[in-house]
Amino acid sequence: MEINIELLLNLPNLSVLDCSISDKEAHIYCENTSSTCVCPSCLRPSSSVRMYQERTVRDMALLGRKVYLHLRVRQFFCQDCNRYFNESFSFVEASKTMTTRYEEYLYFLSDNLCINQVSIKEDVVWLSVNNIYKHYSDKQIEKRKVWQEVRYLGIDEISVKKGKKNYACVLVDLERGLILDFLENRQKETLIAYFKEKGEDFCNQIEVVSCDMWDAYSTLATDLFPKAETVIDRYHFFVHLNKALDATRKNLRKACPEQEAFKHIRWSLLKSPEKLSEDEKKALKVAFEVSPALQEVYELRTELKTVFDTDMSKAAATEKVEEWQEKAKKLENVPIGKFLKTLNNWKDKVLNFFHKRHTNAVVEGLNNGIRGIIRRSFGFHSFDNLRRRVLVEFG
Ligand SMILES: [Zn+2]
Repeated sequence: MEINIELLLNLPNLSVLDCSISDKEAHIYCENTSSTCVCPSCLRPSSSVRMYQERTVRDMALLGRKVYLHLRVRQFFCQDCNRYFNESFSFVEASKTMTTRYEEYLYFLSDNLCINQVSIKEDVVWLSVNNIYKHYSDKQIEKRKVWQEVRYLGIDEISVKKGKKNYACVLVDLERGLILDFLENRQKETLIAYFKEKGEDFCNQIEVVSCDMWDAYSTLATDLFPKAETVIDRYHFFVHLNKALDATRKNLRKACPEQEAFKHIRWSLLKSPEKLSEDEKKALKVAFEVSPALQEVYELRTELKTVFDTDMSKAAATEKVEEWQEKAKKLENVPIGKFLKTLNNWKDKVLNFFHKRHTNAVVEGLNNGIRGIIRRSFGFHSFDNLRRRVLVEFG
């Protein structure tokens, strides 16, 4: 049975002249089927061939063999323009050493493997795979039309190197739950330069900026987005209250190191009460019997959470929170005292939550996605590539 290689190749206007196949490689010699070629300057067809050259390009593997196409490239002469030109092929761009479909395949592989793995798997030099990844992902990122409709902007950070205080900044469209951009650091100057470049119209369209209690974010929001209201993200705010609760537990552990009731209750304390198992509930009950003060702080957190879970006006919420503050003050608990100070500093922006009830909750999910990408790529070669991966997947 004769094998029809042309049918297998499935490339337009290509006829196969010869073929040599070894264990690992297939070399396919081919040429264009049309007798004429259009001159690139006058667009008239020419049939006057002056010279032949060979051009080798890599193509998709065939039954485990690397495939090289040896293209017979004709040089034509255009009598009208009095110039020479080489014919081109629709399936491979000028000056490229791979067919477009093979480049696209490598890009497809790079989606789930790191550049290094693709390079080894396909036996293509790392730099080529990296350039292909850059080229195709940038094209995909540029195509996105994500900026026009942003109204609620979330600014958050994520630690990109384990154990190091190396924070990258995540910009999120909170309404649509997508990552707008991913910046290498969260410094104020970086963010100012970034949004200045986005332009005045963009800055004016922002209605809400949600961020955590980091000075740079909050002053930035007032400086850059004149029409926006700054909201301290509820999630981050409660992280501080959880810290106070945990510090109370730690102090008890220090004061009574032998007390069994205070051991192994950290996660049960920090968990939402409705998510506790029966055993966890029991452990907490025992701890609370030994230390009613711990129970008071625990209940205080639940009370504040209930305020935030209830739909009410900012004025009504302010009243509730102030009542809560009075009650909290009376505990004379040092960690809670610290929390109250933070709350006082940020109160207005914390309470803005009751206007639009927007949270960065969606950002937590996206941040987990970013952590997944970092894990999958076993770290990352450059921040730019990490950014590309993040935007292609979550942008
Ligand atoms: Zn011409």
